[in-house]
Amino acid sequence: CGIVGYVGAKSAAPILIDGLARLEYRGYDSAGVAVLGSTSLRVHRDTGRVRDLEATLPKRFAGKLGIGHTRWATHGAPTPENAHPHVSMDGRVAVVHNGIIDNAAALRAALQADGVTFSSETDTEVLAHLIARVLAKGADGISGTDGDSGADGARHRPSTLEDAVLTALDQVEGTYGIAVASADHPDRIVVARNGSPIILGIGEREMHVASDAAALVRYTRQVVHLDDGELATVRADGYQTFTRHARTTKTAITVDWTAD
Ligand code: GLU
Repeated sequence: CGIVGYVGAKSAAPILIDGLARLEYRGYDSAGVAVLGSTSLRVHRDTGRVRDLEATLPKRFAGKLGIGHTRWATHGAPTPENAHPHVSMDGRVAVVHNGIIDNAAALRAALQADGVTFSSETDTEVLAHLIARVLAKGADGISGTDGDSGADGARHRPSTLEDAVLTALDQVEGTYGIAVASADHPDRIVVARNGSPIILGIGEREMHVASDAAALVRYTRQVVHLDDGELATVRADGYQTFTRHARTTKTAITVDWTAD
């Protein structure tokens, strides 16, 4: 339902929770945040109100990069386990997602057959596992054929987070706005859009991500709207948009809203 993200010099969690509170008007049943600490991702999520999430936030939830979500359940009941962010088995990739992955059941079955354990009933969770597998094994790992079958011997080839997201999205049919954080790529959030809005907010040596400008007008008025089929790498010092085929050039627009 709602997506937020932040990377900059400030503590991410309060900014993420403030952004989620500003998306409450859209309705939701659960909420959660993932923050990248010095070496690992920490996740806090639950059913119910954003203010309850804030009240129960663990004390040491430091980190200057994070993603957050308000969920309106489509696949799986509103439970704490089904709340986003969803995390890979190794805990190193976190994903928030708006929309519906149509072929999630088939992807889940294939991943399970290949040893992946799922911890939720959501369609979204397949994305965390698919991305983590590419990061861990290279693009060959995604099909589960991680033997020596690749003629190019490319298994264990390191993958950028952007490549991993693109490779994962190649497997996916459906609609999505996603934001992805990885403990192995701690300077960036990667976002992608197909049928569900993603906006970048350009700050002073900080960047925001949201599904709706309401989440970020308090912080910046300079925004970039992704188009369907576009992705972006978002870092504290700027952003780069691209498609599967090429980099894209975007024009920032000024949102003329009054934030309270
Ligand atoms: N389909 C996802 C889920 O059920 C995302 C729902 C949403 O857009 O909030 O978890």
